[in-house]
Formats: sequence, C-alpha cells, structure tokens
Amino acid sequence: MRFNREDENYVYGFVGKNIKKYRKIKGLTQDKLAELVNYSPSFIANIESSSTHQTFSLGALWRISSALGVSLEELCYDPNKFGANPQKSKEYVCNYCGNTLDLPMEIIDVFNFIYTVSNNKALYPTFTCPKCGKKLIPKNVIDKM
Ligand SMILES: [Zn+2]
Repeated sequence: MRFNREDENYVYGFVGKNIKKYRKIKGLTQDKLAELVNYSPSFIANIESSSTHQTFSLGALWRISSALGVSLEELCYDPNKFGANPQKSKEYVCNYCGNTLDLPMEIIDVFNFIYTVSNNKALYPTFTCPKCGKKLIPKNVIDKM
C-alpha cells in the first residue's frame, strides 16, 4: 500500500524499505536481525512490509541501525524527497585551476553508498581534476566558504 507524504504511515513505509535494503546488503535474514536486536521476527517482518501498519519507536530504529551498521540518517532517507525533479548532477570545482566538472548523481551516489556501507573514512568520495590532478570540491561547499 502506498501512502502520500502527508500521511504519517508514509514515513514507516520508506524507513521499512530502507531497513529491508540494508538488511539484505548485510546478508542477514529477518530472523537473524530480530535476534540481534532482541525483537520478534514477526515485528521485523511487519516493519519491512508495506502492507502492515507497524509503528516502531526511535529506540527500535536506533537498535536496528546499530545492528545493520548504518546511520539513522541512512535509514531515514526518503527516496522521494526531491519530488518529481531529483537533482541529476552536482557541480565540482577545482580550487587550483578553476576547472569545473558536472558529475552525475548516479556516480556520486555509488561512491557515497560504498563509503556508508564500508564505514571507512579513507573511502570518502573525492574526485580529482582531470586537468591538473588536484582535488575537486563540490561547488555548493565553495559557495558557503
Ligand atoms: Zn584543476
């Protein structure tokens, strides 16, 4: 069942989907996740299901995020946040030679995803200037400087 964004069930819908996604990435069954967070398997199944209206506490979400090794922010990511006009690319600027590059969001998302799942600071997505080889900085970051 789909809910519109004004309905509070909407938030349980996409958070449940995110939990399911990260549980599968971690290679955990619903039973195993239930065991890790000390909830019943049916509770986990209901959280992930879009046909039940299972509510859960912020504390439960916190425990699940710890067990899955992802941040609360990641579990609360609303894929429809940008509505009908999602951001398609992000502009990066070279602070050294002034070169600008428009990187597709698909690429940035993949890097962000690897970084999030690996939980390794060394994998934080950075891109190099094709002209001079220096580090590219997202343009919105420079605007805030
Ligand atoms: Zn450059």
